Amino acid sequence: MREPRPTDVGPVRTCVGCRRTRPRDELARLARTPAGVRYDRRRRASGRGANICPELSCIEAAGQRGAGPVRRALRGAPETEIRAALDELRCEVAAPTTTRPRVTGSNTPSAG
Ligand SMILES: [Zn+2]
Repeated sequence: MREPRPTDVGPVRTCVGCRRTRPRDELARLARTPAGVRYDRRRRASGRGANICPELSCIEAAGQRGAGPVRRALRGAPETEIRAALDELRCEVAAPTTTRPRVTGSNTPSAG
């Protein structure tokens, strides 16, 4: 049995929050645009980008210590802009926009 190669998942990126590598498609992207650092929802903005898991813990971690890792990834972008972009992402993560209905665990009908 061969183990699947990491390359099977396509390009991977390192999260600036937890420093783990994940498939690029699973990560959110912050981009340094001429208008400032923005949460790059569609991953289409050109220029420097920082990748981060769309998870609150990673968003918090990325903002620690003056957002150092993010600033490095974005070549010294202003911390205030980074925090604004992180807030943008945090809102997105905290308020799921999924169209799938969420089933509450405690109220599942028993299928007989
Ligand atoms: Zn992460």
